[in-house]
Amino acid sequence: MLPVFGHLNPDTDAIASALVYAHLLSRQGTPAQAYRLGELNFETPFVLQKAGVEVPPLLPALDAGTAVALVDHNERAQSAPNLADLQVTHVVDHHKLGDLSTMQPAFLRFEPVGCTATLLLKLHREARLSVERADATLMLSAVLSDTLHFRSPTTTPDDREAVAFLAPIARVRDVMAYALEMFAAKSDLGDTPAAELLRMDYKVFAFGDPALAQRWGLGMIETTNPAYVFGRQAELLAAMRAAKAADGLDGVLLGVVDILNGTNRMLVPGESEAQVVQAAFAAPTVDGVADLGDRISRKKQIVPALEQHFEAQV
Ligand code: MN
Ligand code: MN
Repeated sequence: MLPVFGHLNPDTDAIASALVYAHLLSRQGTPAQAYRLGELNFETPFVLQKAGVEVPPLLPALDAGTAVALVDHNERAQSAPNLADLQVTHVVDHHKLGDLSTMQPAFLRFEPVGCTATLLLKLHREARLSVERADATLMLSAVLSDTLHFRSPTTTPDDREAVAFLAPIARVRDVMAYALEMFAAKSDLGDTPAAELLRMDYKVFAFGDPALAQRWGLGMIETTNPAYVFGRQAELLAAMRAAKAADGLDGVLLGVVDILNGTNRMLVPGESEAQVVQAAFAAPTVDGVADLGDRISRKKQIVPALEQHFEAQV
């Protein structure tokens, strides 16, 4: 069974796309099994329940040389701990290409669309396979989640078309109401410890010259209730400083995205981060917060600006 998995600190796309791609590969004659690389956020269980699908198991330790399929990521720092020793045979992704290398020619599908699931719908069509209801629910939910129901600048016409095509199959009559239910589930953070909130949607990136080794942790909290998050600002800033020290990082940032307004106010835990945020985004930090305006996409707006900032420093 070919293991299929998305990135660490999985979001709805990482889980849904692993499930859908494992099913698609199996239907095409490559038996495959979906796994997850961590605990679910608060949105994904809502989606799995709507789809009537079980939570995929945690990825077990894999022997060197094991064939694997990746979805929704390609960088080592966001993947299985020994990815460099595994044999990547398939990747379906919508992120920038990182340090991926393969031992053999592989099936690769990368497009700059808003969601991996949009590419999986294309793969179904190209294979002339019908889309089953559970898969339609998973893909629809992933596209709505990744694009924040088309609010994200990562949204493409292909993502909109995918939602229009999938909604009737998933029997979702009111897409806007369904998306709001998903976002409400995601925003119901309860008394989750600050360290867990930080890591719920968190990725580590290497920027600039590898010899200079700038490694940054970039978290995002997408919420319909930013007031709740800022009510816990002091705890979150402390958790960010702790994560930076524990993981030996050069900086940690946490974007707090107001889903409904499409704005991002970023938590900035220290002076060195504040200098980088000022240089990369021309955004001053006041009392631990930098207003990034409508820059709500880590993939398309945050990471490229930091990449450019650190490249220019060489
Ligand atoms: Mn993802
Ligand atoms: Mn994605």
